[in-house]
This record gives sequence, C-alpha cells and structure tokens, in this order.
Amino acid sequence: MAQLDRRLLEILACPACHADVRQEGDRIVCDGCGRRYPIRDGLPIMLVDEAELPVQTHGESTEEGDQS
Ligand SMILES: [Zn+2]
Repeated sequence: MAQLDRRLLEILACPACHADVRQEGDRIVCDGCGRRYPIRDGLPIMLVDEAELPVQTHGESTEEGDQS
C-alpha cells in the first residue's frame, strides 16, 4: 500500500464538498461528506464520479431532491 505524501494530502480537497481529506488504507476519505476516493497507481482519484458514497445507517430520510 502506497503512503501518500502528507503535503499532497494537505492540498487535496473533496471535489464534492471541499472538505479536508485523509488517507485510510488504499482510499482517500472525505471528512466532510464521507465520500471515499480510490487511489490508483499511487495517485488519488479525486473525482465525484469515482467516489463511493458513505453507507447510510439511518434510513429515516430519503434525500432524493438534492438541490445545488
Ligand atoms: Zn466531501
């Protein structure tokens, strides 16, 4: 498992919510929205389309109408 440069992690931000991110194993995890971005060939793939959404444990709200 490649350890990313800490300075690289510091300048990276989540493209979805612009929060800070951290490395967790072979993924980049957003502290804000919880999205997880893959690391391929030692390079973080900071693309919303490539991100895994966090698992929602609370099924109380159906947030279908995300307005941005
Ligand atoms: Zn985020």
